[in-house]
Formats: sequence, C-alpha cells, structure tokens
Amino acid sequence: KFLHYSAEDGYYKTSPFDPVIVPNVPLHEYVWRDFKKWERSTATVCVITDRQYTFAQMRDASAAFAVRLQTKFKLHKPDVLAICLPNIPEFPIATLGAIEAGLTVTTVNPVYTPDEIARQLTFSGAKFLVGTVSGFATLSQACKLLGKQLPIAVIRTSAGESLPEGAIDFSELTSTQNVRYEDLVSPKDASADDMVQASLPLNLMGRQDTLPSVLPFFHIYGLTVVMLSKLGQGCRLATMPCFKPDDFMRSLDKYQGSILNLVPPIALFMINHPKMTQETAPHLRVVMSGAAPIGQHDVERFLHKFPKAAFKQGYGMTETSPVALLTQDGNKIYASTGVLPGSTEAKIVPLEGNDAKGVGPRTTGELCVRGPQVMSGYLNNEEANQVTFYPGNWLRSGDVAFYDEDGLFYITDRMKELIKVKGFQVPPAELEAVLRDHPKILEAAVFGIPHELNGEAPRAIVVLREGEKASAEEISAYVAERVAHYKKLEGGVIFVDEVPKNPTGKILRRELKEKFSD
Ligand code: AMP
Repeated sequence: KFLHYSAEDGYYKTSPFDPVIVPNVPLHEYVWRDFKKWERSTATVCVITDRQYTFAQMRDASAAFAVRLQTKFKLHKPDVLAICLPNIPEFPIATLGAIEAGLTVTTVNPVYTPDEIARQLTFSGAKFLVGTVSGFATLSQACKLLGKQLPIAVIRTSAGESLPEGAIDFSELTSTQNVRYEDLVSPKDASADDMVQASLPLNLMGRQDTLPSVLPFFHIYGLTVVMLSKLGQGCRLATMPCFKPDDFMRSLDKYQGSILNLVPPIALFMINHPKMTQETAPHLRVVMSGAAPIGQHDVERFLHKFPKAAFKQGYGMTETSPVALLTQDGNKIYASTGVLPGSTEAKIVPLEGNDAKGVGPRTTGELCVRGPQVMSGYLNNEEANQVTFYPGNWLRSGDVAFYDEDGLFYITDRMKELIKVKGFQVPPAELEAVLRDHPKILEAAVFGIPHELNGEAPRAIVVLREGEKASAEEISAYVAERVAHYKKLEGGVIFVDEVPKNPTGKILRRELKEKFSD
C-alpha cells in the first residue's frame, strides 16, 4: 500500500494521510490562529503551585516580551535566545514571545551542568538567556566559562522567591503595563522554510482536553507534539517540572488529564504502580508513546490496566521535528510504529554499500525520510550534513527498520552511536571526551547496554595510563560530577588494555557492544 518505484529512488513509500498544507505565517500566529475560540480558558497550569494563565494572558504576555526584547535589548532576527527552563506555565510565553520578536530559540536542558550549558551557548551563539531563580547561579557560571556577560531573565516559580543580584525580572518583561505593541517590528523575511511540525491529528471531544505535560518542553517531542501543537488546538497543559509519581498522578486525577504523551519508562511506571488505576486516571482517553521503543507486551499490559484509553505510538527524531511515523486510529499491531504522516515519504536503504535505492517490503535496512518536517541541516556543520543526507533531500535516520505488506513500519535496531536513556539523548562521544580529561585515563569508549526501566544505560570501556590504578566507582563518580544525571555511567565501567578500533582510528562500537554487553 502506498508503495511506489522510481529509477532514481528504488522502492519508496508515501503517506496514507492527506497532504499537509503549510501555512505561510510565523509560528506564533499559527499557534494563536483559533485563539478567539478559547481566549478565556486556561492554557497552562502548574501541577505543583496551581499557577495558571488563560490563552488571552499568555498571548498578551508573550507579545509584551517580544516588544521588550526588540526595544530594550535590541534583539532582532537572526539573534538567538536560549531558554533553560523546566516545564512551567511560562515556558510557552518565553518561546512564543521570542519567536514573535523574530528570534531563533535554542532550548537548553535545565539539569545541564555549567560546562554543558556553556557548550550549547557557544554552538548557538545565544545573546539572551531565560531561566528560573533557582537556575540563575548555574546560568551565571556558564556565562563566566564563556567569558561573556549575557543578560539573564529569571522566572519566579514560587511566591517567596526574590530576584538574585544581576538577574532581570521576567515578569517585568512580560507585563502588559505600559507596553507599546505598535513598536514591534515583524521580521520581513520570515518564510515557510523557517518551520516546525505544529499540527498533528487529534480528535477533539467538544470539551477542553488536558495534557499532563511531563515530557520536557526543551526536547523536540515536548516542544512541538505537546506544547505548540496542543496549545494551537486549545488544550490545557498541566505542567510538571520533573517526573514525580505524586505530581504525575495529580495531573491525571485532580487536573483531569485526558491526553497523555509519554516515553516508555512512564508507561512502565503506570503499569507497575499499584496506585495507578483506571479509577485514578478517570479521564484518560488517548495515550501516545514515543522517543524510544516500547514492547508489544508492555502495550498489552498497559491496555489491560487502562482499557478505556486508545494507545498510539510515534517514531521520530529531533531532525524530523519530530514525527516521522505514527500509528493510525484503531491500530492493534503494537510492535509497529505505524505509517508516514501527511506529505512524508520514506525508503529503506541497504545497510551495506553505498546504494541509496529503496528496497521492498519485509527487507531490513536504514530508514530514510523526506518531508516538510525534515530539518534543513545542522548549524555550522557541513561535514555532518554531507553524511546525514542522501541526494534528493533524503534524511538518513541511523535507525534500522522495515515495512510489511500492509505498509506498517517496524523499527528493529539503531545503527547510529546515540544512546537513549529514558528517551533522553546521550551522545557517547561527549562522555568519552569527559573520560579522556581524567588524568589517569588514556583512552575510553562508551556504548549503550539494555536497561529494564530506562531503555538503555551508558557503559564505559576504559584504558588507564601506564602504571595508574583506579576503581570503577572512582571513574563513575568523576563522570557523574560533570554531566546531567541521566548521562551517568549507570551501565558500569570496565577496564581493558585496548579499545577496538578500525585502521582509521574509529571506535568499533558494534564490536564493543557484542563483547562487553553482558
Ligand atoms: P531524539 O532526537 O532525541 O528524538 O532521538 C531520536 C531517536 O530516538 C531515533 O532516531 C530513534 O533511534 C529513537 N526513537 C524515537 N522514537 C522511537 C520509537 N517509537 N521506537 C524506537 N526508537 C525510537
């Protein structure tokens, strides 16, 4: 079904959905397109503090922020603004305000260390930061490492917090008092190429749906699938700064969560926790899992416990902003990640050799994707762009997949180096660089091993310098101090005499995986 052949591409698949019409408007205008219908409804509410904003308050605050970014801070397209926030109700205000001012947004994980933040600020060239009062010290430290004093606006996440010295008050920048909206200059060269995926099929029920928003908004899944697309559809986001069982359960019970985007470890939590039942999640009607593989049996166990919910799965990546596959309504084949969304094409290319021609059904190979949601490329990294795209704008996913005769896709393995822990990205090269900085370490290689709850866990193979001695605990602790918590070497440290490499010095990670995974 929806299978085609061309001399150039071999076999390739198209979407069973109608083509997507990409509106030629800036993102904030798209999100606010039906705003009048629900302007007095709650748009975001914090599950911890109950702090909330209506759609009208949110739109006015973000427009005020846009005006002040331009007039007070002289920021304009193509300047970059960094948002380093947990999921709080103000996240969309900062994001949509920056976009309305014509800026590019880079989202930073708030659990990052100052080193990790400094690296992202360097890559992105950010000129302005938004954070929380409690995150201010870390952001200041990151700026110090950079040797730049960037303006940092902070948000108070609880009533008693006072403004740290040197911080800018976010609430003043978003205040609707004395703001001159007519001063806002729209960027002239906004185009339909500056885009993200902001609309996904959702059957609305006629009353407002609530989304427990626990997936981080700084990651593409939380940012577009949850935050932007659902605000655009008038849903209420019940935000949680991090996953805590009691808060999560409150989002489903007291806050009446009805649509739930999750990652497999949260699905496992719901299956295993005795207090999580159909009765404690009485409004739940749609659940969508993504960001990492989920087992067929886990889905069956989930549906046994929550029989009223429809279960969907999506597959995607940051580079496809993010959805590249999703299951259709009524799908019962839970091992499949579904079909292509509208206007999207895919082919499966042999893993060996340089032939980029697509193969037919039930043949495994690398999944390649083409569509309007595919990124235009990596910033300032032509080398990566060269290897990531095949001619004709085909993005190589680095994932191994096949499709069956019914047109359903199955992801079977990952050929790229990326490790995924609870759906978060852990690039091995980053941990290897941290390990190599240790005075006793000569060489290191990192790969993922399977982990029952988190999906995968990073494991390190380490070669010590001659005459040195170290314990696995010492090395693990050294890494843990320098990286975000989910990048810790939970998979352990193994000492070896040599890291297997190919003649050009590339680490043979497959070989490592086979040899050292037990
Ligand atoms: P990220 O850019 O962080 O979203 O990571 C993208 C990667 O996550 C993909 O290339 C896959 O390896 C993995 N991934 C995402 N969704 C799924 C899924 N439904 N099943 C299996 N792997 C997935």
